[in-house]
Amino acid sequence: MTQVIDIAIVGAGMSGLYSAWRLKADAAAHQRPLTVAVFEGSERVGGRLLSVKPPFVNDTFVELGGMRFTATQHLVCGLTKAFGLQTGVLADANPSNIAYLRGQRLTKGELTDPERIPYVIDESLRNPESLQDLMAVAAVRALAPSFKLVLDIDLTLDTLKQVTAAQWRAVGERGTFEGKPLYETPLHYLLVRTLGHGAVQFLQDSLGYDSVLWTWSAADGFPFNLSDFGSDITHFHLIDGFSALPRRLHEEAVALGVDVQLSTRVRSVHDVVLADGTAGVAFTTVKSDGQETRHLARQLILALPRRAIELLDRTGPLFESRASVFRPLLEAVSPIPLFKIALCYEHCWWEAVVGAGSHGKSVTDMPMRQVYYWKVNPDDQQGVVLIYDGGLAKSYWEQLDHIEPNKVQSKLAHRRPGVEMWADYAAPARIIFEAHRQLLELHGMHESQAPAPFAAACMSWSRDPFGGGAHFWNMGLRSHEVAEKILQPLPELPVYICGEAWSHDQGWVEGALATAEAMLTRHFGLSSVLDTDLLSAHP
Ligand SMILES: Cc1cc2nc3c(=O)[nH]c(=O)nc-3n(C[C@H](O)[C@H](O)[C@H](O)COP(=O)(O)OP(=O)(O)OC[C@H]3O[C@@H](n4cnc5c(N)ncnc54)[C@H](O)[C@@H]3O)c2cc1C
Repeated sequence: MTQVIDIAIVGAGMSGLYSAWRLKADAAAHQRPLTVAVFEGSERVGGRLLSVKPPFVNDTFVELGGMRFTATQHLVCGLTKAFGLQTGVLADANPSNIAYLRGQRLTKGELTDPERIPYVIDESLRNPESLQDLMAVAAVRALAPSFKLVLDIDLTLDTLKQVTAAQWRAVGERGTFEGKPLYETPLHYLLVRTLGHGAVQFLQDSLGYDSVLWTWSAADGFPFNLSDFGSDITHFHLIDGFSALPRRLHEEAVALGVDVQLSTRVRSVHDVVLADGTAGVAFTTVKSDGQETRHLARQLILALPRRAIELLDRTGPLFESRASVFRPLLEAVSPIPLFKIALCYEHCWWEAVVGAGSHGKSVTDMPMRQVYYWKVNPDDQQGVVLIYDGGLAKSYWEQLDHIEPNKVQSKLAHRRPGVEMWADYAAPARIIFEAHRQLLELHGMHESQAPAPFAAACMSWSRDPFGGGAHFWNMGLRSHEVAEKILQPLPELPVYICGEAWSHDQGWVEGALATAEAMLTRHFGLSSVLDTDLLSAHP
């Protein structure tokens, strides 16, 4: 007879591993027997966290997935402290780096000089304070009446910094712009109406992300952009790579008795009545050798992004009888293509332009968009740059990327679990040549002045099963209601959903953890992690 798992979790990304660890730790604290199993389709844990070690460059991991976090992200900070993971500051702003926009090579420091920037911008914004933080200026101009009406707050550039998530939610649900609800007002439209097209183009180009103005309404887009990408936010990273966090969670979960099965993809999910007469879930897994197994669980958690859920067989109650309930929830977010390329060089030729000890990022409106001076080996001056394109619909780089997704998977199949190998993500030749060419143009250098890269790796997160690197809320919906409902889409079916995609910290690990936390406290009876000693008890 098939053994019934108490709680089955699909996906060993951050939200799945965190859920497994929390559930088992809670059961252990209450001396309650509980079987928890995690099924992960790939050969490694961590999902969209992917730290790879470049060849011959000591003491660094390059982040092909998530790379940083902020001090206000309490769950990520709590976990890194609890597990004793070593952190460092990840420099972002460096005034001597380059902003190569519209064919003009400025320093980052010159981006607040209205005489230097090649954009047509309204006179009222042509001053350093406004140019420094156009998103904040737009928020104050457009939302001041709503903050007054809804919260009785006089919104200024100073008070804006104190606005809490709950206050953003209240304004997002009840505030208006031009007489229409903010959740039905495209962020991009509001910005153009408030700042003018030239200023919005400058904002997008100099930020280095095409995607942050994408898809969503002013209600969801403003808090995301202001809390995560303001001019005075410090970012941190993990010295041993962000992947060290899911690896450690994996170890902790296994030590508590969680059964983690790698290379085991869940294919279909159905409702079932268990032998004791209660509602349960039957699901099928497929191993990398094609072996299929049917399992039973009392409860099942899909810790997956939208595309991974869409790749499940479209059968069973989620997709069939109650499709009208589930589909709008599933499709409330859009996957955003993110692409990273890391290039290794024998010496840091770019320092002839940006100065010795290069750090932080340069930006450009060329397809490479953001360039991080990732690491310089002090002994031999070898260096790594990381190119990051938060792209538009079909990214320039994806079209050049001819690695078959299956090739990546099969290469990984013989690796030890948890070890990400640079070679598995080797970049195709055309991507290397084109990225190198754009780097030279960004720095205003000729190919005779720089060596070709000796190694390169890349990752396109649009590949299955991810569909995108991050997700943003679509227009015209009350995202907080969707986020609540999707935790258990059909009340009679013990299937739950968590992960970054339907969070209010989209594009961040914190979002993945926050939705897991919401699901565990609302539907599994756990106390908030802040009321346990889990974030402080680990040596
Ligand atoms: C380029 C990039 C940059 C980013 N930058 C940052 C950053 O700087 N800071 C930050 O905090 N976050 C960043 N993020 C976001 C962060 O990585 C994610 O929010 C987070 O890792 C998502 O975790 P998750 O558990 O929601 O999903 P995922 O990590 O997507 O995990 C889902 C897991 O499910 C598995 N899976 C899928 N389908 C199946 C199936 N059918 N059966 C079994 N397993 C399956 C997948 O293999 C995967 O392991 C970035 C992401 C990318 C791609």
